[in-house]
Amino acid sequence: MDIRELITKSSVEQRKALLNKEVSAVELTEEVYKQVDSVDEKIGAYNSLTKDFALETAKKVDEKINKGEEIAPLAGIPLALKDNINLKSYPTTASSKILSNFVSPYDATVSQKLKANLIPVIGKANMDEFAMGSSNENSATKIVRNPWNLNKVPGGSSGGSAAAVAAGEATVALGSDTGGSIRLPGSYCGLVGLKPTYGRVSRYGLIAFASSLDQIGPITRTVEDAALLLNVISGHDEKDSTSLNQPVPDFTKDLRKDLKGVKIGYIKELCSDGLAADVASAVQKSIETYKSMGAEIIEISLPLIKYSIAVYYIIATAEASSNLARFDGVKYGYRAKDVDTLYDMYVKTRAQGFGDEVKRRIMLGTYALSSGYYDAYYKKAQQLRRLVKNDFDNAFKKVDVLLSPTCPHTAFDIGSKVEDPLSMYLTDIATITANLAGIPAMNVPVGLDKSGMPIGLQLQANCLEETKLLNVAFKLEEAVQFNYSIPSMTLV
Ligand code: GLN
Repeated sequence: MDIRELITKSSVEQRKALLNKEVSAVELTEEVYKQVDSVDEKIGAYNSLTKDFALETAKKVDEKINKGEEIAPLAGIPLALKDNINLKSYPTTASSKILSNFVSPYDATVSQKLKANLIPVIGKANMDEFAMGSSNENSATKIVRNPWNLNKVPGGSSGGSAAAVAAGEATVALGSDTGGSIRLPGSYCGLVGLKPTYGRVSRYGLIAFASSLDQIGPITRTVEDAALLLNVISGHDEKDSTSLNQPVPDFTKDLRKDLKGVKIGYIKELCSDGLAADVASAVQKSIETYKSMGAEIIEISLPLIKYSIAVYYIIATAEASSNLARFDGVKYGYRAKDVDTLYDMYVKTRAQGFGDEVKRRIMLGTYALSSGYYDAYYKKAQQLRRLVKNDFDNAFKKVDVLLSPTCPHTAFDIGSKVEDPLSMYLTDIATITANLAGIPAMNVPVGLDKSGMPIGLQLQANCLEETKLLNVAFKLEEAVQFNYSIPSMTLV
């Protein structure tokens, strides 16, 4: 296969080419950098590149292959790393001015795992500042454009990670998901995006947004690639006190299992009102596809979904206001000049260093946590969060997997929601509850709408049931065959 074409394929196909010595890992990495050179000015997927590291890693892979040694399943596969995950000796900015001069002094646990598996990191992917957003328009660096249509958003907050994979600037990516930031960009860019069970993947070295919701996960072209990358990053980590001490299965083991008798519940509240027509019919078609495979389809009602955005924006902002208190200009990052007093330095540093959306969240969160309002807002939100979790627990007594669209509509025009934060927040109506409940959830691309933009289906499973989730996703992918589509601009 021609190397230009190879960079748009799955890791599984690239691995075959590496092992058959049709192409070397260094050549594959260099070809991906050529692609970055030719398209990234238009896309804006990367904040910075990590070329020395990528080529050094690729060289190690080639040495092993040439010596006939075994290589890990994703060794030599080019990866985009979201710019809120530390990679030692390289910048980690979280797309914020306040971290614009920050160089990671240590590796995140997931970065250590990438290194152990000899996975070349191509660069640090652009994102919404501190992962706050749904469109990647909140980046202090630059906006990211959707490779399927450059006038549309790629989704956020892991927009750079997704755009890089869709545009052939990486084969796989890591993003982080606090309320949908892996799944929404997956949906808008026609990719698989998986948010694992809370605690499945270590958060050590991930810049915290809302610690009880944040989780790192894969963004890939195929379900199998997502399973392979989840194999790499999962596992207990004593450096993260919320990391689960649970065995990690091989997530690829059940991918091809047939679905006879599997119970799939479609979420009534997310599958009826307010969907774009093409999204509604894609959901319907997916349900029919599952039926034809012998799965049992059941209607599930989750009435608390209507409160989920409100609950999320209290909890997430409360945690963010506390997490972001550390950015004070003292220990690291940007520091305002021309200041008179210590207090003045704090105020000016934060006023100049944070963008509007981050400031909005800090103010909201501080308000929700202040005495007098704590019981009315924060405590109520926590109580509702428990009820949302109970609803899921009950649902998973009846079904194996839940189905809904990932978003009621496809990618929107750049600029169309920036003035209206509430309508931006509503794009996460289908994704947010998985973070509140801690359950695994993923996006699977199922087709294009009439304007040629990808449509995503969301599947969710009970805690630690990623293997089942990936099986149900794989079967749909196999039937839909969407994973063979690439945006037309990718190879021009
Ligand atoms: N869009 C949501 C927010 O703005 C979720 C972001 C995320 O998952 N990091 O908070």
